[in-house]
Amino acid sequence: MKLSFHGADLGVTGSCHMLETRNRRILIDCGLLQGSRDLVEDNAEPFGFDPKEIDCVLLTHAHLDHCGRLPLLVKRGFRGIVIATAATFELARLVMLDAAHLQDEEARRRSRRKRRHGEDGGPPPLYTIDDVSSTFERFGTAAEYGKPIEITPGLRATFFDAGHILGSASILVESDEQGSRRSILFSGDIGNTGRPLLRPPSPPDHAEAIVMESTYGDRRHRSFADSIEEFYAAIADAFRRGGNVIIPTFALERAQELLFFLHRGVETNRLPSTVQVFLDSPMAISATEIFERHPESLDPALACLLREGRDPFRVPGLHLARETTESMAINRISGGAIIMAGSGMCTGGRVRHHLRHNLWRKESAVIFVGYAAAGTLARRIIDGAQQVTLFGEEIPVRAHVHTINGFSAHADQQELVAWHSHIQGSRRTFLVHGEERVMKQLAEQLSSGQIEMPHLHQSFDL
Ligand code: ZN
Repeated sequence: MKLSFHGADLGVTGSCHMLETRNRRILIDCGLLQGSRDLVEDNAEPFGFDPKEIDCVLLTHAHLDHCGRLPLLVKRGFRGIVIATAATFELARLVMLDAAHLQDEEARRRSRRKRRHGEDGGPPPLYTIDDVSSTFERFGTAAEYGKPIEITPGLRATFFDAGHILGSASILVESDEQGSRRSILFSGDIGNTGRPLLRPPSPPDHAEAIVMESTYGDRRHRSFADSIEEFYAAIADAFRRGGNVIIPTFALERAQELLFFLHRGVETNRLPSTVQVFLDSPMAISATEIFERHPESLDPALACLLREGRDPFRVPGLHLARETTESMAINRISGGAIIMAGSGMCTGGRVRHHLRHNLWRKESAVIFVGYAAAGTLARRIIDGAQQVTLFGEEIPVRAHVHTINGFSAHADQQELVAWHSHIQGSRRTFLVHGEERVMKQLAEQLSSGQIEMPHLHQSFDL
C-alpha cells in the first residue's frame, strides 16, 4: 500500500490523504484550504493526483476543511463514490451549498470592484451550486459506526465515533492482499471528551499505522464546567445592566451546544425563564434540524430526550430568524435578548448588524466562544480595539467583551495522547492537521512507534 498526503500537511486546513492499493485509489477527506488571503487561488492548484483515477472518498466529517474541495474533485472528473455517516452526508450538503453561495457572492463582489477600475472580471468561483449538486450524486453508502463496509473484495473501511461534531468518524481501512494484511487508521478530527451532545471518541483497539490530527497537540483546555459558569455569569451581568448579549456563532455544533446550555440554564434557574433567544442564522437553524434527525449520532441521554419529544435545543423563548426581515426586527430590542448569529469570526453575516446596534452600548455584552483568526473583526474586538468600522461607520466598543475558550470541539494534548495510546500495534504515526511547532510538541509525548510529519504531496510505502 502507498500513502500520500495532499492537504493539512504541516498545516491545519485542506485535509486530503490518498491510499493506493494494488487496484484501488481511495481518498480520505477532500477539504478546503482556508485562512489565506486568496481562497480561490490556493484551492485551484492541482490536487497532486488525477481525480478521474480515484475510486472512492471516505469522508471523516462535514467541516469545510475536510469536505470543501469535494465539488472541485467532481468538477475535475471524479466519478467514484463517497462514503460517510448519514449525519455527515446531511451536514456536508449544507456546508458545501453554503460554500458555493459564499464563493458566488465573493466572485460577484470582486468582479464589480474590478470593473469599477476598468479591469477584467477576475477569476470565477472554484465551483458552483451545480457542481455541488453533482457531488450529491456521488454520495453512496451511509456508514454506521463499528460496521465494516467492503469497498472491494479484500479492502474494507470501518467508521468509529470521533466525538468531534455530529456524525464525525475516525476511519480504519484494512486490506488483505495476496496474503498480506495491512491496517491504517485515519483519525479525522478527534473530539474533546465530556461534551454534552456527543459520545466521547472511541477509536479501534488496533492499527498498524495511524494518520492523526494534532490541532491542539501543544495545550491543555480549560475546564468545561468553568467555561459554562463563566457563560451564565456573563449573560446574567448583561441582563442586570439592561443590555443584550451578542454571541458570534459557528453554525455547526457550537450553535447547538449553546442552545443546549441555554435550555439547561433556564431549567436550572441560572437564566431567567423570560429570556428571549434569537437564532439568527439560516444555516444554524438547518444544522439544528439535522441534529434532531440523528439521535443515533448523539449522546445517549440526549437521544433519549429527543425520542421522548423533549427537545434539548428548544429553549423556551427561542425565535428562529430565517428571513432578513426577521433578523432586522431583532434590532428593535434593547435589552434581555441573547442573539446568536454568524459568522463566528464576524468576517461577514448577520452578526455584524447586531454588533452595530450593540457594540457601542455599555449595557450589552459580546461573548466569543470560538476560535478567532488574526486579522478578523472578532480578533480585533477580543484584542481590545477601542473602535471598529462596520458598514462604513466608526463604532466605539463600549459593550463588555468576554472570551470563553472552553468550548473547543478538538481534543487537547492530554486527550490526543490518551487516544493514541489506546491503539495497540501501531508502528508508524503520521501527524497531520497541525502547525509544525505544535506537532513537534505532540510527537515528544507520543510513546510508541516511529513519528512522521509529512510534507505536501509526500508519499510513503506501507
Ligand atoms: Zn473538524
